[in-house]
Amino acid sequence: MKLHNIYRFFINIIYPNICPCCETIIEYDGDFCDKCRNKILPYDSDFIIKHVDEFTAYCYYEGIIRHAIRKYKITAKGNSYYAFAFSIAQTLRRKRLTNGLDGIVYIPMTKAAQNERGYNQVKLMAKELHSLLDIPVYDALVKIRNTKSQKSVSAEARRSNLKNAFAISDKVDIKGKRLLLIDDVCTTGNTISEAARILKEAGADMVIAASFAKTRDIHSKNLTN
Ligand SMILES: [Zn+2]
Repeated sequence: MKLHNIYRFFINIIYPNICPCCETIIEYDGDFCDKCRNKILPYDSDFIIKHVDEFTAYCYYEGIIRHAIRKYKITAKGNSYYAFAFSIAQTLRRKRLTNGLDGIVYIPMTKAAQNERGYNQVKLMAKELHSLLDIPVYDALVKIRNTKSQKSVSAEARRSNLKNAFAISDKVDIKGKRLLLIDDVCTTGNTISEAARILKEAGADMVIAASFAKTRDIHSKNLTN
């Protein structure tokens, strides 16, 4: 049993692992209960994102997943970020996208936003992915300015709204690295695209992107990224 699994096993005794959708108690290393898993719509599109070598997602942002993500956005408690990371890891393995990856990079929040919330959920997911895939996490991206909520701007303005929102941390050298860029929900792909553009500009050799969920309609009004 891996160290990370032993940790989850013991934590589970105090805080039982729950399904992120319905809160039923599940196995200590499980992601969703069987009933909910059967209702999840697996992602099966070939969405192309500029600057990204390949994009994939675990499921569509539909039905019970909308509810699970709303809860995940509110609190870091519970099983959500582990379950989402587990699902991404499964998807990447199935598509043989984990081979040769050097590091995991996540979509950052501004310092102010992170201080307000206390954590960055996508970073929590990245840490779980590190344990699941044995790939290090690089704190490579920094969000340097607050972008307007994406839902408040027109589709044409979305791209320029994100322009230069990210920078590369001077503490991390990503030259020649093959990276996995992760986010929780992908809507238009503009956030991932802009982050990938910056990573490639800084010398990254390859950027594979994965989100837990992907909206079917790129004009979804319910999400900001
Ligand atoms: Zn459930």
